[in-house]
Amino acid sequence: MMDPRHAILFESVQIGPKTLPNRFYQVPHASGFGSARPLTQAAFRGIKAEGGWGGVCVEYSPVSADADEEPHVAAYLQDDRDAAALRPTVEAIHRHGALAGVELYHGGNSSKNVTSRHTRIAPSAAAAEIRWGSSAREMDLDDIARVQADFVHAARLARDIGFDIVYVYGAHGYLLTQFLSPWHNLRTDAYGGSLAGRARFALETLEKVRDAIGDDCAIATRFCLDGRSGVKGVRVEEMLRFVQLAEPLVDLFDVTVGSWPEDSGTSRYYPEGHQLSWTSQVREATSKPIVGVGRYTNPDQMAALIASGQFDLIGAARPAIADPFLPRKIAEGRLGDIRECTGSNVCILKEEDFRHVGCIQNPTAGEEYRRSWHPEEVPTTDDPDRAVLVIGAGPAGMECALTLGRRGFAAVHLVEASDDIGGRLTWTRRLPTLGDWGRIIDWRRTQLDRLDNVQVITGRRLDVADVLDYGAGIVVVATGSHWSDGGTQPGTRRPILGSAGSLTPERVMAGDRPGGQRVAVYDCDGYYVAPGIAELLAAEGYEVHLVTPEAVVSPMSDGTLEGDMLRRHLHDVGIAMHTGITLRERRPGSVIGETAYEDPWSLEVDDLVLVTHQVPDDTLYRALAADSERLADAGISALHLIGDARSPRWISEAVFDGHRLARELDLPSPDFPAPLRRDLPV
Ligand code: ADP
Repeated sequence: MMDPRHAILFESVQIGPKTLPNRFYQVPHASGFGSARPLTQAAFRGIKAEGGWGGVCVEYSPVSADADEEPHVAAYLQDDRDAAALRPTVEAIHRHGALAGVELYHGGNSSKNVTSRHTRIAPSAAAAEIRWGSSAREMDLDDIARVQADFVHAARLARDIGFDIVYVYGAHGYLLTQFLSPWHNLRTDAYGGSLAGRARFALETLEKVRDAIGDDCAIATRFCLDGRSGVKGVRVEEMLRFVQLAEPLVDLFDVTVGSWPEDSGTSRYYPEGHQLSWTSQVREATSKPIVGVGRYTNPDQMAALIASGQFDLIGAARPAIADPFLPRKIAEGRLGDIRECTGSNVCILKEEDFRHVGCIQNPTAGEEYRRSWHPEEVPTTDDPDRAVLVIGAGPAGMECALTLGRRGFAAVHLVEASDDIGGRLTWTRRLPTLGDWGRIIDWRRTQLDRLDNVQVITGRRLDVADVLDYGAGIVVVATGSHWSDGGTQPGTRRPILGSAGSLTPERVMAGDRPGGQRVAVYDCDGYYVAPGIAELLAAEGYEVHLVTPEAVVSPMSDGTLEGDMLRRHLHDVGIAMHTGITLRERRPGSVIGETAYEDPWSLEVDDLVLVTHQVPDDTLYRALAADSERLADAGISALHLIGDARSPRWISEAVFDGHRLARELDLPSPDFPAPLRRDLPV
């Protein structure tokens, strides 16, 4: 039953001619599906509507030929084929009573245009800001009229296929903001100069779109306030003044801050609701509905925010990926079931790098169509009268046992050698800045506790004889991996001479400390582990040198939008960073290596922590798999290997692995993933 304090979140809200059924609003965010994978897009957004989000938006929709975003995937709305591709998504959203939104967009001087080979356009000629860009030309009056007509054309297409909310998108430094910004806009004609001049392009575009579809659709705009990173050229006071000018033309203001890495800041550097000190100021400028994000997962916090009047809708992108059913769970008072976003930004990493969104918490995210996975439903097993032993309660084992339990197996035992479940996450969550990743354990602990058919046994390390005697017919080995303590390194496939027995992340987290003040942390992994260990040691007073063969420290963190912040943070806490260095040898009192150009390099240090690579802990599995007769004699009909023990990967992939095996356990070859449903462009 719903807590009455949360009833405010379920009030309907009028936006122009449309009524949102509640205050939960999935803001536009990229998925990698766009209009290129129509049924994947439809299933991904439809699930959110089913989960109770009253408004569900697709990603940005470039309106003009010179707003070409390829190779990135966008929800294009330029012709009838695009419209046909997005129609199933609108229908999927409507099926559950939600409103569907689309974000019409022109990137101006940040457009890619690599496929179209159009020249970039901007309010004023300038160097473009993306690495493959060189320049942009000044828009003439014909360009202005053409782009505005493109917005109108796209808006009509959106309306005709049933979109309810149509954005004229300006945030994050795109064309509308470029016009607003005196840094970008140096024009001396009617579209430049004073704020009224600089705002003209956006206001005219809003007006034209409104004239065309305003009776049928709600008109939204998205823009950004300074934040820490700032909006090039547009100060808060001017943005608020713009809101006042735009108010008669707009039904919903969607507010963000600064740059994307700040707006979608990771939990490492930004707490929930960090945007509010900026975004809350918009209320002074308008009485129209406002939506903003804050990685909110706590309904008390949401209700307080709505009651304060600062926002009218709770916007979410990442929390809706981690838990598409978040609103329904609040409505039903099932607060402990909310799968909270960790703020890791693995979703962004995957969408940007692999063009397919995913999630560290929710293994079904992005798999709704291609694997037919539902976040809240798993197929019950046809043969429940079986016992399964899952060995190892890391991310893979926890998720596998949980999913098998939900599928209705008679007895699922999750047996863990340590005193607590969580595997590598038990120490990862204790690294500086990574506490919120502990939510991956916390949610699974609560869920496992609720299943009568699942028993979690800790403090018990199983060997071959234990497994054979256990009495389970199905055995899943999820024994994880450990960091190499001196073997080969990935880049050279050669050992670091003299490094055998060096400290590793697990040993440091178990309490071992360097033998001396100066310590090198050698990072071939390139993500969060080495920076975390380095920061932990620096906080304890060690002089820490982070050494990596990579060209930058933690290149993976660029994919999660936190690379710059991470490196600045490491610098600020006094960690020396040495990039492009490959270690060859450890000697007493120093480490020896070479630069990217093979020049000799050395550093005096007292000790070394190796973060080179993870080694699978698969000995138990191999011993069991070696003798199939013995397995058969013990009544074990199936033996599986998942997670890092199979192949060390990111946490998101270990969770996925455990989930996938549990779903597909009864297929003929469950160790090899079932074929994907292909989704071809319309
Ligand atoms: P993954 O990410 O694949 O889930 P982790 O390394 O995070 O892997 O977790 C593996 C877990 O398996 C660890 O908690 C470890 O203590 C546990 N484990 C390893 N070997 C055994 C064993 N023989 N019996 C029980 N638990 C084990």
